[in-house]
This record gives sequence, structure tokens and C-alpha cells, in this order.
Amino acid sequence: MKYKIDHDLHIHSYLSTCSGDPDQNPENLLRLAERDGLSVLCLTDHFWDSDMPGASEWYQPQNYKHVSQILPLPQSESVKFWFGCETDLDKHMRLGISKERINRFDFVIIPTTHLHMPDNIDVADRTLGGRAQKYAERLDGVLDMDLPFHKIGIAHLTTHLIAPDHFEDHLKVLEMITDDTFRRLFEKAAQKGPGIELNFHVSAYTPQQQEVILRPYRIAKECGCKFYFGSDAHHPSSLDDRLENFTKIRDVLELEESDRFDPFIAK
Ligand SMILES: [Zn+2]
Ligand SMILES: [Zn+2]
Repeated sequence: MKYKIDHDLHIHSYLSTCSGDPDQNPENLLRLAERDGLSVLCLTDHFWDSDMPGASEWYQPQNYKHVSQILPLPQSESVKFWFGCETDLDKHMRLGISKERINRFDFVIIPTTHLHMPDNIDVADRTLGGRAQKYAERLDGVLDMDLPFHKIGIAHLTTHLIAPDHFEDHLKVLEMITDDTFRRLFEKAAQKGPGIELNFHVSAYTPQQQEVILRPYRIAKECGCKFYFGSDAHHPSSLDDRLENFTKIRDVLELEESDRFDPFIAK
């Protein structure tokens, strides 16, 4: 059975500094989820816990007091609205959330690929080769952490933020990572159990570029990883083509219901 597209587990509200859009509010997001026939929506504002060392100047104000202002989230008959967060990992492999704090969230996404942030990668590693090396080390490092992986998502593994200077650069970095490396990482991910996020715009890429973006996910699927969808929307207009894009991803990766990540299976 084809993977049923019924959720969006990566979405920001106006509380995220990079959104700040008053229209990106819970009521509006819930309404748009109803419009799209979703049954689960998860808010994932950027978050670094004040109790955890390493917050950059940008993250410092985005602490628990800040992100929890949004509670309680509105619910509807058809849509469950979860409270999550998108935390981060600095260059010393320090995570912005503790195990205890994870309990306060329904779902937590960890981007290992925020290499556009100066705190997450040393100047010396900012070559394309250095980024490829860090890509693998950071994902490997997170998978080695003692985390409740049944409620953890690995965010946007093919984002342009891997190498943000020129559009082609993130594709070049991904091409530097061998099938063997991806296989080793995704075998570990399949064993540990976090969800692998599908969050990229198929139509932003030429067919040839799509092959570069899809290779890691194809390997992840072969390794038995489970997937969820995320729009990473910061403004309501980005949600206009959410369903169309998720459908394209599902079809191009030939995802079945058995490929679904269910973060609440253990609950
Ligand atoms: Zn992100
Ligand atoms: Zn995000």
C-alpha cells in the first residue's frame, strides 16, 4: 500500500526568529492542516535549552520559556497538533536539549546539516570536502547518543544549508559521500530507530540533480530506515504546494506504508 501522506512534522511558528510572521500562528496552521487533510501536525520551532551549554547568540533567546509560550496548541476533530522543537548540534557535538527536556516535547527534530551556522562548523572545515566529512561525523555522532530515538527525527539530510554559498555546492558535497558511508550511517539509523525526514522541493532540481538528492534516501530505504514528511514552512504561502511536493517525493521514492516512521508507536 502506498505511503499515506497525512502529516507534517516540521513546521515553524512566528516564534522562530527566522519566521516572525504573525500569520504563521497555530490557528492558521491548524486550519491549513485541515485543508490538506492531515491528521498530525507538529510544531518544531528552533530551540536551544538554557540548561545546555553551547547556545549561539541566535539560539539563546529561543529557549524553553520562549517556545512554550505557544502552549496550549489548538486541536481539532481531525488534526492532532503536537508540540515539538528543532534543536541543534554545535561543532563540539553538543546537543541543545537534554534527555529530561525531551520529555516535555511530543517530538524532537535534530538537524545534523545546519552547516550554515558558524557555531556548527570550524572555519577550517568549510571546504566542500570538509563539509562532506562533517556531514558523516555529525550524523554518526547523533546516532551514538543516548536518546529516545522513537521520538526523534533527523531533519533535512539533503538541505542546501550543508553548503549554502552556491546552490550547486550542497549537491557537490552529497556526491563526495560514498554509498558505503551512507550505508554504514543508515544501517546504524535503522537499528537505532529515528525517523528520516523528507523535506526538499523536488521541482527545485533538474532530473539529474534529483538523482543526487534521492541517492541518500534510496540507500536509507534499502537499509530499512523509516520516513516522515516535513515542510519546514516559515510562512503560510510555503504550504500551498505541500501536498503536491510530498506526493512527488513519495512517488519518486516509491514509499509504501511499511516505510512510515511512527513516533508514537512506543507510546
Ligand atoms: Zn533546519
Ligand atoms: Zn526548520
